[in-house]
Amino acid sequence: MTLQQTLSILKPDATRRNLNGKINTKIEESGLKIIAQKRLRLTKEQAQKFYAVHEERSFFNELCDYMISGPIVAQVLEGEDAVARYREIMGATNPANAAEGTIRKEFAESIEANSVHGSDSIENAAIEIAFFFSQLEIVV
Ligand code: ADP
Ligand code: MG
Repeated sequence: MTLQQTLSILKPDATRRNLNGKINTKIEESGLKIIAQKRLRLTKEQAQKFYAVHEERSFFNELCDYMISGPIVAQVLEGEDAVARYREIMGATNPANAAEGTIRKEFAESIEANSVHGSDSIENAAIEIAFFFSQLEIVV
């Protein structure tokens, strides 16, 4: 067990339906701590940069348009094994396959508008956290 940080995003479908509080409750009930948080609206260029790993995928352009369709909330979560732990409570990418009790099972609208993002590795967590936050904004 190691103390880790991971990047979370409450996506536009979540902010549009006023679900920030409900999702944050699930995060906090899992034992993860929200140690940085900000609401912002990405530009197309920023969305393309953030999702650059998916550049070749058929849904890339649609995904970037969706991510700029409304405000998002970027967060840093801290806890034991935070990267894997958050992926667990988020649930599968496609809400149809997400386990009971997960955020995506409960709130996601579709495979695209699936309410939350979570880093998929410790290395990517560090890169994604630095994309949104300076060290000054992360208060443990
Ligand atoms: P995850 O967010 O679970 O790590 P991916 O990294 O594979 O999933 O995909 C990034 C995001 O792209 C997903 O969260 C979802 O919003 C969108 N996405 C993934 N697969 C599809 C798809 N087949 N069609 C449309 N959007 C998709
Ligand atoms: Mg991913």
